[in-house]
Amino acid sequence: MYIKQTIEQLAPYVPGIQPQMDGRVIKINANENPYPPSPRVKEILSEFDYGQLRYYPDATSQRLRTLIGTHFNLSSGHVFCGNGSDEIIAYLFQICLEEGDSIATPYPTYTLYKTIADIHRVHTEYVPTRDDFSIDIEALINTGAKGIFIANPNAQTGLLLPLAEIEYLLQNYEGLVVIDEAYIDFAPATASAYELVARYPNLVVLRTFSKSHSLCGIRVGFCLAAPMLVDALDKCRDSYNVSHLSQLMAAAAFEDQLYLQKTIKQVVATRERVRETLISLGFEVLPSQANFLLCKPQHHTAGEIYEFLKSKQIYVRYFDAPRLSDQLRISVGTDDEMDVLLEQLIEFLGD
Ligand code: PMP
Repeated sequence: MYIKQTIEQLAPYVPGIQPQMDGRVIKINANENPYPPSPRVKEILSEFDYGQLRYYPDATSQRLRTLIGTHFNLSSGHVFCGNGSDEIIAYLFQICLEEGDSIATPYPTYTLYKTIADIHRVHTEYVPTRDDFSIDIEALINTGAKGIFIANPNAQTGLLLPLAEIEYLLQNYEGLVVIDEAYIDFAPATASAYELVARYPNLVVLRTFSKSHSLCGIRVGFCLAAPMLVDALDKCRDSYNVSHLSQLMAAAAFEDQLYLQKTIKQVVATRERVRETLISLGFEVLPSQANFLLCKPQHHTAGEIYEFLKSKQIYVRYFDAPRLSDQLRISVGTDDEMDVLLEQLIEFLGD
């Protein structure tokens, strides 16, 4: 069987370990939300007439687009929904980037940008973050790449890029600018770039239902962008890219802003408490605005602590990669899960 050479050479995207969840396992390695989704999602499921499944879903997820557009003060023509925001990232390559083009992105960041760039034979120019992991906007612009991808807060670090820097980028760069706001709901409300969408036709703001809405399992993401970009995305999307149930569940969760704000508040409070405790245990911990903490242990290697925690059925994320191999990335779990984690760390570090 013939497989394209470019594809044969690729390594598949590797997510964190997905252990069998048996009640004792603490899974804090994929930035999943420790709380269930809105109870309205449960209602939707229990009321759902399964006979409806014989019909195709709404191809354009129109109701969801309208709900989202209204919430962000934009028309539904500025909204596109995808099978997870990952799918939208892939479509952006299809509509804006030719084989042989380059994208620029900070390092470290979400590794999927490069995986998808490789699939499309687009070169990834990694622009190193500064010593404190802050993003160098000027250096990103100076690459001359055709597109710039920035996760904000940044994946792996949790650091927030100030909105003024995003606006500076948009004022000084005409290529595609993707601001991936997968974790933005855990940052202050004023941090989002969504209001800039109406003014900059080259801006795409990417969002997901996976994190703050606790819906990783249904795979729904969306983006806010100029109608010209949304129209182009519609031309290359899969015929029915978001399932019927996914559209219903996402809409139910989105409408329950009260529950959303309540769980976000809880995650943020736990994040700050755990950060302080980790610092008191001697870790260097970045000031995260996301639902995870990147932290560097002092007297042990990150790999040793990772293996120890794994032996206790606590799964955190360890990246054997430049600038990250001395760090652990810990997703914010429930207070009880975090207490178990901290007890185990205290025991290990005390030995
Ligand atoms: N962007 C970033 C920065 C992420 O960390 C993730 C989740 N791993 C995604 C996008 C993917 O989100 P989704 O589940 O919507 O595909």
